[in-house]
Amino acid sequence: MLNLIFFGPPGVGKGTQAARVAKYYDLVHVSTGDILREEIKLETELGLKVKDIIASGELVPDEFLIEVLENTCSKHPGAKGFVFDGFPRTLRQAEALDELMKRQDCKIAKVISLEVPEDELLRRLVNRAIEQGRTDDTAEVIKNRLIVYQKHTKPLIDYYKRKNIFIEVPGVGTIGSIFASLCKVIENH
Ligand code: AMP
Repeated sequence: MLNLIFFGPPGVGKGTQAARVAKYYDLVHVSTGDILREEIKLETELGLKVKDIIASGELVPDEFLIEVLENTCSKHPGAKGFVFDGFPRTLRQAEALDELMKRQDCKIAKVISLEVPEDELLRRLVNRAIEQGRTDDTAEVIKNRLIVYQKHTKPLIDYYKRKNIFIEVPGVGTIGSIFASLCKVIENH
């Protein structure tokens, strides 16, 4: 199995690259943001509970995410591996993922962090909000999402560095050139 985590702040291009990598290596792409947005669209119980939290840019409580993770992974018993995108975002989620991996007798091969300068990040987030009409990406919410990332998610860098699986890849360039760098990292490390 090949299990990868795509790591980085909002707007760094994780979603685009995670989808491409998953397709290319025949892995299951798990975007928790997409899953939660779908729950909201379908007005499920979970969707109704998380709607306001997502709109504010805060994190959805860990217990909901851990349930989403377990449900999603159990839907793909024969998967060649998973590309986690937007998960984990807290230490508790990272530990839950480790436990799930252990239970399945597999592990996270690499945590790939896309690196983009902060001013470029903001520019991308504002553009995405305009282009995709993402209601979770207003100027105020964008700022909050970046603060939430610094506070809750960035500390995971040390967690994965200690495991020796954290790898940084430049996230600036064309989609194709970034993808090529990612493939090199995935195949050569
Ligand atoms: P994303 O599309 O990954 O940026 O996620 C959009 C929003 O969904 C985030 O701002 C959070 O409110 C929520 N969300 C997605 N993934 C997680 C997660 N792993 N933990 C907590 N909240 C999450």
